[in-house]
Amino acid sequence: MARLFGTNGVRGVVNEFMDGQLALDVGKAIGSFMKGKVAIGCDSRTSADMVKSACAAGLMSAGAEVLDLGLLPTPALQFFVKSHRVAGGVMITASHNPPEFNGIKAIDSDGTEMPREKEVAIEAIYFQRSFSSPDWRNVGASVRSEGAIADYQKAVLSNVDRKEIRGAGLKVVLDCANGAGSVCSPKILEELGVRTITLNCNPLGTFPGHPSEPTEDHLQDLKAMVRETGADLGIAHDGDADRTIFVDDKGRFVHGDRSLAVVAGAMVAENGGGIVVTPVSTSLCVEDVVRRSGGELVYTRVGAPIVARKMIEVGAIFGGEENGGLIFPKHQYCRDAAMTAAKMIEILAVEGKLSSLLEKVPDYCLDKRKLQCPDAVKDDVLKGVCDAFAEQRMDITDGVKVYFEGGWTLIRPSGTEPIFRIYSEGKTETMARDIADRCEKVVREIISSFSK
Ligand code: MG
Repeated sequence: MARLFGTNGVRGVVNEFMDGQLALDVGKAIGSFMKGKVAIGCDSRTSADMVKSACAAGLMSAGAEVLDLGLLPTPALQFFVKSHRVAGGVMITASHNPPEFNGIKAIDSDGTEMPREKEVAIEAIYFQRSFSSPDWRNVGASVRSEGAIADYQKAVLSNVDRKEIRGAGLKVVLDCANGAGSVCSPKILEELGVRTITLNCNPLGTFPGHPSEPTEDHLQDLKAMVRETGADLGIAHDGDADRTIFVDDKGRFVHGDRSLAVVAGAMVAENGGGIVVTPVSTSLCVEDVVRRSGGELVYTRVGAPIVARKMIEVGAIFGGEENGGLIFPKHQYCRDAAMTAAKMIEILAVEGKLSSLLEKVPDYCLDKRKLQCPDAVKDDVLKGVCDAFAEQRMDITDGVKVYFEGGWTLIRPSGTEPIFRIYSEGKTETMARDIADRCEKVVREIISSFSK
């Protein structure tokens, strides 16, 4: 059956794909599925009101009662859904995509991202147009709900040692990318007693500061500001503030797997051991640090909802992805940018400079490639790859991950494009390249043998 939800909800360019009609119909489908009270919120995009209003109308036409939370980060909406025990939530966001995009993301009643089987049920309602259509007495209403942001801020603050942070006298630069984090994170840092210099912390849907994906390229101003002001840390959120990427006290961009390793190590130490969950694509530096700290690492398929569900299943103390999406289970089972920032500040308050903590994280080099491959033969190619590397240690959690001396390669078919992605990691650039060359050759030969 056709798909509606991608890996991050329904997303597209406004008034091309994501128009009022689509938002209305997706709202009808979600409302038919959820039944009851549904919280809705949005990020700072120019199309937020249009998409949210249309989607809310759809929810109400299916009989749902809408609680409008206004502009807030995705994890703040998720926290509201979890703590108010409503039927579910809808977040209007396209996360890190360019400003012309917008999207609709469904949140389950426990505050986690909707599992795939429930999305399939919503898609079935959408494609069959089997929407609930109650009579005039029973259509829903919408009320503005206040307090979600304050409750969320309180929850984040309750999960760190405020006294320790206050005593450290830290200075940070915060870059909210003109996104939803602007309405939360400056206040949280103020409450923590951290001296904060803000950049792009006014919500503006054109993203005038820089594009909302926190890549090194987009964080040049943040790097410069950290250096110029002698700050201890630079903090960057993506557009809907579920991910945080850092700049260290020397003004250097920190790759997400390295900050993940620092926080994972601290979480394991704080808990006296425990399980950390991360996707198979994460750098070995995280496994090294977790093991060294006395913890255990469990790998999953790629995708934040999958990491979160695995964490619940195995009782993990922490989990996350290399893109800055970190999950703190005592707080909630979803990626949370403000929680990530607050925890990193606590770690620095206790353990010292981020640049010194990063020195203890082992270095690895990553080589990323892609190979064209027709969708029809992807499964056969994967089987061929397994056979070709049968002698090696292997992990087939997601695609095929083959381990070599000092490194690994992950060979994964893309879910959306006719390509295979080949990620290889080694202790040095040469090692990563050699591993990648060796695997690329094998995969290329297998693809061509099936494509004849
Ligand atoms: Mg995001």
